[in-house]
Amino acid sequence: MLNIDMRKIYNFYPLDPAPEAGNLPTGGDLYYECLACAAVVNSVPHIKSACVCGNLQGGGGKLNLKDPALVRVVRGKLK
Ligand SMILES: [Zn+2]
Repeated sequence: MLNIDMRKIYNFYPLDPAPEAGNLPTGGDLYYECLACAAVVNSVPHIKSACVCGNLQGGGGKLNLKDPALVRVVRGKLK
């Protein structure tokens, strides 16, 4: 699996106000930060993606969340 530290490439800014756990937005510039393991995964991952602890797993444009309450939605901007 591709393993890049996204924080080296992007600055991440939490959405304000924070979206509800049951209704999280998706988008090419939106990323989900896993609050369990602190990994950041794109909300519409084109390549197979997963966070370290497995809470976020996806690929093919769809991300599955085991526990949406442990997700912070952040907007990524290239440094
Ligand atoms: Zn995780």
